[in-house]
Amino acid sequence: MFLKRVEMQGFKSFADKVVINFEHSVTGVVGPNGCGKSNITDAIRWVLGEQSVKSLRGTTMTDVIFAGSADRKMVGMAEVTLVFDNTKRSLNSELDEIEVTRRLYRNGQDAEYLINRNNVRLKDVVDLILDSGLGKDSLSMISQGNISSFAEAKPQDRRAIFEEAAGVSKYKKRKMESLAK
Ligand code: ATP
Ligand code: MG
Repeated sequence: MFLKRVEMQGFKSFADKVVINFEHSVTGVVGPNGCGKSNITDAIRWVLGEQSVKSLRGTTMTDVIFAGSADRKMVGMAEVTLVFDNTKRSLNSELDEIEVTRRLYRNGQDAEYLINRNNVRLKDVVDLILDSGLGKDSLSMISQGNISSFAEAKPQDRRAIFEEAAGVSKYKKRKMESLAK
């Protein structure tokens, strides 16, 4: 599976629509402190279902919506879309290309998730990506300062990291869901 494109509008410092296309090689993002580099990875984790406001470096979820700047008014909605190449069928879908979108409105309307522009639940997004090694807590995303917390993790927490990598966490999650019924 390959992340081909990220489209952001109204997310954190990205007031206007920004489209980032990734090539099949290593991509580096460079720029001065505070220019928005980490906001790109926040955007990716956010679409993958990140619910922790703290890990998105805010105090409420609406902090991810562009809050205005010296020369721009705040906006009312944040929207981020990830476009995956799924020709290798790593995601749980028969489609070659999959778009996953998350939207949030400032006026407190419910958060929205979309897969290929159809409204879905957060659970559907989580189920889609669960087996791909791309889960929001997986090691495919390591934020600034998080390396040491992995290195110092307790054995149980480290086990969870291996379970996600090995694709076991999907079955654990389903087992928990059926036991809860
Ligand atoms: P560093 O090199 O220090 O890690 P960075 O390039 O990773 O910096 P980010 O942390 O991605 O920078 O971006 C921080 C910037 O994003 C700050 O200038 C902050 O004001 C801006 N920002 C964050 N949330 C919002 C928001 N809701 N509205 C407008 N700007 C925002
Ligand atoms: Mg940063």
